[in-house]
Amino acid sequence: MKVLKFGGTSVGSADSILKVRDIVKSQDDDVVVVVSAVGGVTDQLIKAANLAKKGDHECFDILSEVKEKHYGIISELFPLDIAQTIKFRVDQLFDEVSTIIKGVYMLKEITVKSEAIISSFGERVSSFMIAQLFEGGKLFESQKYIKTDKVFGKDTVDFEETERNLLSVKDELVAINVFPGFIACNKNEEITTLGRGGSDYTAAIIAATLDASVLEIWTDVNGFMTADPRIISRAYCIDKLSYQEAMELSHFGAKVIYPPTILPVYKKKIPILIKNTFNPEAQGTLINDEREPLKDKKIKGISSIKEVALLTIQGIGMIGVTGIAMRLFKSLAQKNINVILISQASSENSISIVIESKAADKAVKLVEKEFKTEIALNQVNNITVESDMAVIAIVGENMKHTTGISGKLFNSMGRNGVNIYAIAQGASELNISFVVKEKDLRKGLNTVHEAFFLSHFNVVNLFVIGTGTVGKMLIEKINSQSDKLFAENKLKIRVAGITNSRKMLLDPQGLDTSGILNDLMEKGDNANLSVYTEKVKEYNLANSVVVDCTANAIISEIYQGLLESNVSVVTANKIATSSDYASYQKLKETALNKGVKFLFETNVGAGLPIIAPLNDLVMSGDKILGLEAVLSGTLNYIVNTVDENKPLSDVIQEAKEKGYSEPDPRIDLSGTDVVRKILILAREAGYEMEQSDIEVVPFVPQKYMDCDSLDQFMEEIKEYNGTFEEKRKELANQGKKLRYGAKLENGKATVGFIEIDKTHPFFDLEGSNNIILINSEHYKEHPMQIKGYGAGADVTAAGVFADIIKVANK
Ligand code: ADP
Ligand code: ASP
Ligand code: MG
Repeated sequence: MKVLKFGGTSVGSADSILKVRDIVKSQDDDVVVVVSAVGGVTDQLIKAANLAKKGDHECFDILSEVKEKHYGIISELFPLDIAQTIKFRVDQLFDEVSTIIKGVYMLKEITVKSEAIISSFGERVSSFMIAQLFEGGKLFESQKYIKTDKVFGKDTVDFEETERNLLSVKDELVAINVFPGFIACNKNEEITTLGRGGSDYTAAIIAATLDASVLEIWTDVNGFMTADPRIISRAYCIDKLSYQEAMELSHFGAKVIYPPTILPVYKKKIPILIKNTFNPEAQGTLINDEREPLKDKKIKGISSIKEVALLTIQGIGMIGVTGIAMRLFKSLAQKNINVILISQASSENSISIVIESKAADKAVKLVEKEFKTEIALNQVNNITVESDMAVIAIVGENMKHTTGISGKLFNSMGRNGVNIYAIAQGASELNISFVVKEKDLRKGLNTVHEAFFLSHFNVVNLFVIGTGTVGKMLIEKINSQSDKLFAENKLKIRVAGITNSRKMLLDPQGLDTSGILNDLMEKGDNANLSVYTEKVKEYNLANSVVVDCTANAIISEIYQGLLESNVSVVTANKIATSSDYASYQKLKETALNKGVKFLFETNVGAGLPIIAPLNDLVMSGDKILGLEAVLSGTLNYIVNTVDENKPLSDVIQEAKEKGYSEPDPRIDLSGTDVVRKILILAREAGYEMEQSDIEVVPFVPQKYMDCDSLDQFMEEIKEYNGTFEEKRKELANQGKKLRYGAKLENGKATVGFIEIDKTHPFFDLEGSNNIILINSEHYKEHPMQIKGYGAGADVTAAGVFADIIKVANK
């Protein structure tokens, strides 16, 4: 014989119930079918009871809704005449519960007894309704057989009595037998329940007593998943679990099976199979006594519990004193406060325990009372409680004797800035549990899940700021490269937010990037940088990266706060890195301390890698003695393009139009851009330097820079065309060229023109290329030379993209 249990969603509508019917009918063995209440009904009944207790008339409306729900299902399931008869009986049942609710409403008082009758009513109706589907099927009233007894104030199954009762009806069983779940009865013939989710337990008790061949739990997911699918969208189904593993996972919050369910069937070695009513073909999860071979998965699943508090008792007077733990637990046990996790350091000066938040205040009072004398004598000096905590547990039998699991676990937490408050690992090594702030739960679960189950692929969560040319091209790159990155590098780039100066769009699950720029403008909210930043922090996603594709000072002000919240920053914006040295240094230090990245490779050479090789030299112990460089692709383009037919003003206009220059080309022409770049390089080379320390000769005389508007500048610069061309021609006649360069020498940086002949490495620097010569202890005779395309939105976007990949591969 088999026992099949169908949960609330499985019997939640007529369609689902028909699926249940088909599953039951397709069995080739006799079956006991245990059913839950119609999905959501238990919650509604409990709500009605609570309203009635307050004298709120709405309780009757809820009861009517529940009744209508059942009527609707009955009408859909049965032909009219049969439906009439069934409804008649259902009406009688509703009259019973209605009388009880009326009583509660009148008295504004509820007894344990009436509460149990009301909350278990859903199972009585659903089992009656479902039994009618099977010709020759038989309905049994579980409360006649499943008996409870009060143990420490809690209804607990009286197994002896229950077994006796169930065995006595064994002979009366037919091919299809329907039992309501959840409901039971005590010695005084009063209705009791087996606790929320208790229908699983009913099924297990019956399976164990009647020696079923299997206990099948039919629900709305494909089986036991690696983590709660409501939190971890990429959780997947586990094929096999041992009883112990299933027990640990369910105790730590995996709702798919009610924790007490496992013990009775485990004792009889009856396998449990978790199946999906809505996808019966799926294999499901098999729970039995077999252990998987050691080489196989070390960690099988992750669970979590929310709404818990961490209580810590501390004092030097506790060291070496026996009985402290005993007294602590006893004081809590007397008031039925369940201890979820225990952690004590070997110094014995503190014990931390996790309890339900709602018991926290009471627990503190009890513990304070218990240790009153020790507190007075200062032997116990601190009892603290932190609420809003959560426990995460990773479970797997094969963790035993495997080293490195906790290393991997806590390393992943640390890298994502999830602080751990207490840790417990039992000597059985089946479970490692740890306490985090509830606000970090989602991130913690995602991080652990990624580390243990999806380590074959990595996710970065991007929050893009700026949709100008660089931002747009970055999105294009993401769209064109993501499949390849996923296939070849096991890297998934998810855009969780995007904003420009007008609109913002955010989704922690990831936005669809194909039409993201349109979506932003059409569906986005009004842009608000502080709200955007707060959201990034609030989502608290693993591997979060804010990408600044603007040149805006205001944006650079948010970096510090982001890094402090363990969010990496990738920026094409040079303002932060070239602002005052103290702020720059603080950003770098924060990133280092928080284990996140602050990357700005594009600040100097656009797509050309300059900062990374420089960092590598410094890190390998080399000392940078000097730098010589052409760092402005724009200005190099201008000097290379001006000739007798192409005046300076036209070339400036062209550079602007082609996107080589900053939106305002004066930033390039003033030399400011080059100043910023050499400053960043000097700092990265190890020199403490400010912008004001750099001597600069602008590309065009200062008076043009001082024009009121860009238009005025573009007009007035025309008068300088002649002077510039003359200089060029004069040098050309001597076989020389003009370059606008930057230099770092003896700790001093300068920016301005240099005149060079053809022996100089800068002579053949074409178009908008950049070049940098690095002179170091190791590269003294022949400086290291890096040369290449150094301007343009496309290479900048490529450089930003490369930085993002670096964050992912950290
Ligand atoms: P039923 O009504 O069938 O008893 P439950 O709602 O009690 O169903 O349990 C199934 C639900 O448990 C799933 O829909 C899922 O959202 C949740 N759940 C939480 N953790 C897990 C997990 N590790 N594996 C599968 N489901 C889980
Ligand atoms: N109907 C009960 C509940 O919702 C029991 C169950 O479904 O397992 O808790
Ligand atoms: Mg359940």
